[in-house]
Amino acid sequence: MDSFKETGLNDEILKAIGELGFEKPTPIQAQTIPHLLESDQDVIAFAQTGTGKTAAFGLPSVQKTDVEERTTQTLILSPTRELCLQITRDLTKYAKYVRGLAVVPVYGGAPIDVQIKALRRGAHIVVATPGRAKDLIQRGRLLLGDVRRLVLDEADEMLTMGFKEELDTILAETPEEKQTLLFSATMSRDIRNITKRYMHDPLELATAQKNMAAENVTHEYYMVSARDKYEVVKRIADVNPTIYGIVFCRTRRETKEIANKLMTDGYNADALHGDLSQAQRDEVMGQFRKRQLQILVATDVAARGLDVTDLTHIINMTLPDDPEIYIHRSGRTGRAGKSGTSIAIIHTREVRKIQDIERKFKMKFNRASVPTGKEICTNQLYSLIDKMEKVEVDESQIGPFLPEIYAKLEWLSREELIKHFVSTEFNRFLAYYKNARDINIAARPSRERGRDDRGRNSRDSRDSRDSRGSRDSRDGGVTFARIHVNVGSKQKLTPVRLIGMINEALDSSSAKIGKIEIMQTVSFVEIDEAVAQNLIEMLSGWKMAGIPLKLELARQQDRPSRSFTRGERPPRRGSFSGSSRSNRSGSRSDKKSRD
Ligand code: ADP
Ligand code: MG
Repeated sequence: MDSFKETGLNDEILKAIGELGFEKPTPIQAQTIPHLLESDQDVIAFAQTGTGKTAAFGLPSVQKTDVEERTTQTLILSPTRELCLQITRDLTKYAKYVRGLAVVPVYGGAPIDVQIKALRRGAHIVVATPGRAKDLIQRGRLLLGDVRRLVLDEADEMLTMGFKEELDTILAETPEEKQTLLFSATMSRDIRNITKRYMHDPLELATAQKNMAAENVTHEYYMVSARDKYEVVKRIADVNPTIYGIVFCRTRRETKEIANKLMTDGYNADALHGDLSQAQRDEVMGQFRKRQLQILVATDVAARGLDVTDLTHIINMTLPDDPEIYIHRSGRTGRAGKSGTSIAIIHTREVRKIQDIERKFKMKFNRASVPTGKEICTNQLYSLIDKMEKVEVDESQIGPFLPEIYAKLEWLSREELIKHFVSTEFNRFLAYYKNARDINIAARPSRERGRDDRGRNSRDSRDSRDSRGSRDSRDGGVTFARIHVNVGSKQKLTPVRLIGMINEALDSSSAKIGKIEIMQTVSFVEIDEAVAQNLIEMLSGWKMAGIPLKLELARQQDRPSRSFTRGERPPRRGSFSGSSRSNRSGSRSDKKSRD
């Protein structure tokens, strides 16, 4: 379908979207709009972030509204307040030439009486977050008896955010006879359940392959040791002077830390996480939208509903455990036909996650090398020269100073002048990267390990993660890594306190914890191997009784009293195979062949 005209949209709407610069329908729009205009059949639509889903359901909803009737005819549910406002803004624009059509947003965290008044004035289309919708229904203020269309936007997000119960309440309130539309970027069992329960004979639409990674995104990974991850972010930003991207972190704590470092190092960056007030979040998002910020450091939850297109880079500080989340993150770049890069910064043991994503989404990551100091300096220099060439010169402002400046610089030739100018701007940069180390680390061992495991192991990827490492295995297949912590009872560390710290650091209480040994000045804790490295990164640097925490993987044969510094730590591969041979023989024999 080449033009919006063919979709059956009317002139008022065509005029409005023409003004918005929409020239032709996106694939999901081409599929959904004609259907929604003509049929009342339920629709499930899967499409990547940034494929134009709002207009796909929004344009037909606007067109099908009977403005004369003052009741609520369309209810749109969205997971976050930001998204709710975004949808309202978009729909209001689509309805610019439709007289009298009212779109009303209702969402939590804002005075409810203002929203009640707006509803009372008449709301043809209500855009709501599930919590507030439920509240308003229970107060008898949101009347859904005449709803003809129910849209569940980002249904997957609503479920992950735990809105299932609200959805049940709201859906029970709507008439049996209505059209239900479900939009989602990903498919899951929970989504399947919703569609089974609440939808009748739905038409299933998907653009391209379900769950497919956006096409014009290049996926790369850099392999470095955990302590160099920040340096990589810095280099990525430096080698791309015009970067406009999001750095995804796992926890609030990490988010703050990375953002603070970037700001201290002079980057145009800020953090977005759950500890900020709504006003602060709005402020940060606003600045990012306007590109006053180039780099946003965010958690997945906080970045939801941030509708920013045209990102050049997505940077994953840690890969999420769930491959779908990776696809969601990377879907924020490469929008609207532009190309984007999604980068995962990983340490050797995260290769597994790369492989999981590649397999599940039938896509490929390229291993890239962390930019060298030389590459960075080259890019920065050319960017500077480019900027200088294009800079606007305001004669009237600088004119009066020029004669004196010319006179002062007369002794310099043109070539020398350029050298001086570039050095003025650039010496600090050159100095920083002069002796920059190569922070890439060799990938081969763990790549091979990954393949070995897969070859021998018929279980699926999630299970095989457990067999990685083979340190010690019990407890229903969980493999524990043993971690040495440099504080103990003397610093008032108790098992409960340690568990609390672990949960906070990992932002979750679901990690399996094994044996805990608290000595006087050191401790050991066993933790699910899959999260061990993450825990080490997250907790290192916290303070306890004034002592900066230092966590290290402990060797299997180590006695508790012995502690290790980084330098002393034996190579990981050695410790894996050593332990598999020395204890629990038999069950782990498959790992021997790695040596
Ligand atoms: P999704 O909900 O699928 O993530 P959105 O509906 O937010 O995507 O749309 C992403 C961006 O694309 C928005 O800025 C929107 O204005 C723009 N857009 C949507 N449809 C079109 C179109 N047909 N032509 C050009 N831009 C579009
Ligand atoms: Mg959307």
